[in-house]
Amino acid sequence: MASSPAQTEFYQAVEEVLESLEPVLDQNPHYSDNSIIERMVEPERQIMFRVPWVDDQGKVRVNKGYRVEFNSTLGPYKGGLRFHPSVNAGIIKFLGFEQIFKNALTGLPIGGGKGGANFDPKGRSDQEIMRFCQSYMNELYRHIGPNTDVPAGDIGVGAREIGYMFGQYKRLTGRYEGVLTGKGLLWGGSLVRKEATGYGCVYFAQNMLKAQGDSLDGKTCLVSGAGNVATYTIEKLYQLGARPVTCSDSSGTLYHSEGIDLATLKTLKETRRVSLREYLNEFPQAEFIPVDAYPEDGHAVWRFKADAAFPCATQNELTEADAHALLNNDCRCVSEGANMPSTPEAVELFISNRILYGPGKAANAGGVATSQLEMSQNASMQRWTFEQVDQQLQAIMADIHTRCSETAKEFDQPYNLVLGANVAGFRRVADAMLEQGVV
Ligand code: NDP
Repeated sequence: MASSPAQTEFYQAVEEVLESLEPVLDQNPHYSDNSIIERMVEPERQIMFRVPWVDDQGKVRVNKGYRVEFNSTLGPYKGGLRFHPSVNAGIIKFLGFEQIFKNALTGLPIGGGKGGANFDPKGRSDQEIMRFCQSYMNELYRHIGPNTDVPAGDIGVGAREIGYMFGQYKRLTGRYEGVLTGKGLLWGGSLVRKEATGYGCVYFAQNMLKAQGDSLDGKTCLVSGAGNVATYTIEKLYQLGARPVTCSDSSGTLYHSEGIDLATLKTLKETRRVSLREYLNEFPQAEFIPVDAYPEDGHAVWRFKADAAFPCATQNELTEADAHALLNNDCRCVSEGANMPSTPEAVELFISNRILYGPGKAANAGGVATSQLEMSQNASMQRWTFEQVDQQLQAIMADIHTRCSETAKEFDQPYNLVLGANVAGFRRVADAMLEQGVV
């Protein structure tokens, strides 16, 4: 495959999957005979569009918008929207590609897609965010629908942004339907959706530990990020008796040896949307390491001693040096809430040291799985209780863990859940593609 510097993360994601698939492709030549890989790495459709909007000073701003409809073999395209200045076509493609396998692993009828814009929501007023979301939907609405493509949130897109986009979709089409997930609880959202990715990532760690007769109870944990996934990872860790001592954002890393205070974290990030540095106003005994004081070869958050680590911020946020630091500090469990947070070198170290390592496409699938539960409730006009949705989420995460570990065992690498996740996800999509013919 020819490489392009603009698509670094996409090629990184594809290479990891293809490496895992070698034994399957060798044993099953019919996949290659039918060009399954060539078809899978090419999105069914990529939409790129201009997003013009007016800022509070009356100046017209322009951003680039994307939606990649990657693979609809198993169901409508499903995957979040990311609003962050780093967004480009390669990042959206990598996320969309990963989404195909993740969605297949859930066992639910959802295809893979992803979208976003290179818009920076930081420092923007509520009115500016609304105008941006409305403009984004002015183009996106023609490509999505409850049975074709159902976007959700991701970095920079939470309940507020989903609300503004849903309002605009309804205005443009005149239809009130489940075209987005992550909706507000007053108007079609599902209980547990907000918590699902973080909770699911902890349930996945719990399943990995349980398989070894261990648990999270009493474990000291490192968490990165301070957004949706990190916050609810921390909440569930507390509920299961663990002690999360870190979190991080784009300004730096927070370390609080007694455990991160969850209520303060929610106030700072969900309500006030300010830097984690302000945590020290409440807890002066905590430590804040600004980004410019990070080690040259990695990130401060992974340099503290802990039993388990939960990367929940962004891609490539855990380097080889960070992985060495974790291993030297006796960390024996890594469960990824973010997408592709560990570099390939870090992943290699986790696998060769045979620690419990849950790759993002398995460990963070709870979010998309609960999105599908939101779609089911919308389609049947039902509303399930928190306990009903949470029980289904727990069952789905346990199934994903079983699927990955059974597949890894089949290839005599029981500790290698990367192989397990990639092969199990691939086989479900590839076999369905074969049954649907050359399309
Ligand atoms: P949020 O926008 O809620 O939070 C992201 C957090 O990560 C913020 O604390 C942000 O810092 C930090 N961050 C983002 N980019 C960078 C960067 N380049 N450098 C340093 N810090 C950064 O996003 P989510 O919590 O929803 O998403 C986090 C990860 O989880 C992503 O990889 C996403 O793809 C993945 N994921 C999310 C799902 C979901 O349901 N939301 C589902 C599955 C995966 P700051 O606060 O300063 O902006």
